[in-house]
Amino acid sequence: MNEKINIAEQTDLLISLQALDTQIYKMISEKELKPLEINNLEDSQKLKQSGMKEAEDNLKSIQLKHKEKEIMLGTKEEEVRKLQGQLNQIKTNKEYTTMINEIESHKADNSLLEEEIIKFMDSIDQAKARIVLEKQKFAEESKSIDTRIKEIKQQINDIEEAAIELKKKREGLTPLIGKKFLSEYERILVGKDGQALAEVVNDNCGGCYMQLPPQVINEINMKEKIVFCENCQRILYIKDEKA
Ligand SMILES: [Zn+2]
Repeated sequence: MNEKINIAEQTDLLISLQALDTQIYKMISEKELKPLEINNLEDSQKLKQSGMKEAEDNLKSIQLKHKEKEIMLGTKEEEVRKLQGQLNQIKTNKEYTTMINEIESHKADNSLLEEEIIKFMDSIDQAKARIVLEKQKFAEESKSIDTRIKEIKQQINDIEEAAIELKKKREGLTPLIGKKFLSEYERILVGKDGQALAEVVNDNCGGCYMQLPPQVINEINMKEKIVFCENCQRILYIKDEKA
């Protein structure tokens, strides 16, 4: 008779323990994901920084092309001046016409170069404006990412504190449970990722959903021993409807 009461009591204690462990396991898996979230945020922060870097590189490359064109223009203008200086020394009309044509052709090239230079100057203005925007965007996004990371770190702290509370409650409960039951329970708990107990619902195991034979249901109801699911090995129980 004593043993019967014992099994019912032990089962109730295991159910309470399972409720705590379910919460603890849920917290652990939540906490495990947090560093990943932080990593992802840090990665996206770096990625956003690269947008800024790209804008700066873009400016540098335009400035370089601009400089090249200015040097080219300088050289060409020098050439025009040299040719103009030589005009005085020319003897024949034919030579003079040739020289004038050459000068005009250089001047035409130069005005094209000047147009290009103006376009590059516009591009430089645009590139500078883009850098300002990218920097602004980065600063804003970076701030919101930093805030989010802080929040996640706070969540990790909160989870750790809550887990300590749950573990204290657990320590209050485990001494009431028979050593053999407790070690069986914990073995299954670890093996079944935090679910050692399975409630019987409509004659099915709540852990693996297998239909249980009437014999097993009877054994559970008799409360003379702990009954395991033959399929998933979890400890089976039936919720007491009178309670
Ligand atoms: Zn099962």
